Amino acid sequence: RTLSLHANRLPGEPCPGVVMVLHDVTELRRLESMRREFVSSVSHELKTPLAVVQACTETLQMGAVEDLAIRDNFLEQIMQSSVRLNDLIHDMLHLARIESREEAFDITDVSIAGVIDKILQTARGSAATRKIALRIHPPEAEISVMGDEEGVRTILSNLIDNAVKYTIEGGSVDVAWGEEGSHVAITVKDTGIGIPQASLERIFERFYRVDKARSREMGGTGLGLSIVKHTAQAMGGEVTVQSQVGEGSTFTVRLPRG
Ligand code: ADP
Repeated sequence: RTLSLHANRLPGEPCPGVVMVLHDVTELRRLESMRREFVSSVSHELKTPLAVVQACTETLQMGAVEDLAIRDNFLEQIMQSSVRLNDLIHDMLHLARIESREEAFDITDVSIAGVIDKILQTARGSAATRKIALRIHPPEAEISVMGDEEGVRTILSNLIDNAVKYTIEGGSVDVAWGEEGSHVAITVKDTGIGIPQASLERIFERFYRVDKARSREMGGTGLGLSIVKHTAQAMGGEVTVQSQVGEGSTFTVRLPRG
């Protein structure tokens, strides 16, 4: 922090008063360094798949197109990189809209069971492929939250997708929810690889991944948990995590009760 004192007076004039300007430079510097880090992450994340597209196209143009096996392999890599670029751009724009509060949230009474039912239609497929038991534990009485239905779906599908992605074959994912004072707490618990203590507070940062290679391999953009955090906060809620390496993780999202 710096403190600047300006005597608002010309030389020789009597002193009419003092203007004190307090600049919280530390905060400005922190924001500026976050902005720089973000721009550098974005360019890095976009450049990597773009470089694959360019290299494959050039090699094909130089004659590799004649070899059918190489051609198919390169075309597949171009396709995968394009999908990745699309996912990155989609997630970046989504996050920017939530952060600038441009995302139009339509707050209504949203049934958790209803949202989870829709998510499970796709999540069950990837869980079954990876031999992961995906179990739902609804409370006896139906509970709803006050929120934007699409926002609640975004939060829960990201948490459930991650739980399945970061759990080894044969593991399990349990989703439960219940009232907690004026809020509803929804937990997504997995028996997955867990998150090291030092990374726990960083995983909600944009592009932060514990293991970049693994995240990319699973099709992750590194933006999912940032989107979850900002969406929950925009709806008056929060998301927290508890984890043990090798044992699993539990993500809890709290949203205002409906
Ligand atoms: P990604 O697209 O890489 O999954 P996220 O923002 O969703 O990005 O998550 C950030 C990082 O947090 C992941 O790369 C992973 O390292 C870690 N992570 C998220 N969820 C889990 C989980 N359920 N178990 C273990 N690690 C997780």
